[in-house]
Amino acid sequence: MFLIKVLTFNAVQENTYVLYNKTHECIIIDPGCYSEEEKYALQSFINDNGLRPAMLLNTHCHLDHVFGNKFIAESYRLTLKIHKNEEAVLQMAPASGLMFNLPFDNYAGELIFLKEGDVISLGEDSLRVIEAPGHSPGSICFYCEKQEFIIGGDVLFYQSIGRTDLPGGSHESLIKNIKEKLFVLPQDVKVYPGHGPATTIGDEIKYNPYLV
Ligand SMILES: [Zn+2]
Ligand SMILES: [Zn+2]
Repeated sequence: MFLIKVLTFNAVQENTYVLYNKTHECIIIDPGCYSEEEKYALQSFINDNGLRPAMLLNTHCHLDHVFGNKFIAESYRLTLKIHKNEEAVLQMAPASGLMFNLPFDNYAGELIFLKEGDVISLGEDSLRVIEAPGHSPGSICFYCEKQEFIIGGDVLFYQSIGRTDLPGGSHESLIKNIKEKLFVLPQDVKVYPGHGPATTIGDEIKYNPYLV
């Protein structure tokens, strides 16, 4: 069974997720740690729980989700896994960082590309990749069918949705993908978003004002 730890980092309160299980290995998703204190907080959680990071994933590569990629990749010798359509977004991140006065060292190692239907396994547990572009051109979500949760990135939030005014964004695709890829999941599925509190598919079908 996956245990899920959320740490909220950086100027825009991004949710970084650590998924771990009895293998004592973990998957790090969207390490948004920016400051030395934030990097230390993430590393301390890993150390205090005796975990060995086995995978580094990004739901998408906007600035706030990639600050800690290089730190995690180098500390634990990991290769970043993203959707192919996020490669250009990742390359743009340092320039956006300078624009917002948040310079950082970008991950510049090899990339492994994920696509719809790919299965990410950690021992007996697994996540399935769901492509849901719109907020970003290669946004993906990680769905755990057995435990009924999804790590959704900036696609669907508690009573809100991801912005679509950044390069490669599309409001029309975002709405279509939320309806066709996420709202078809069981209503009890818990959604762990890139920002803000967790919610459920059922609650968002009922109450999300952007999807009535
Ligand atoms: Zn984003
Ligand atoms: Zn974000």
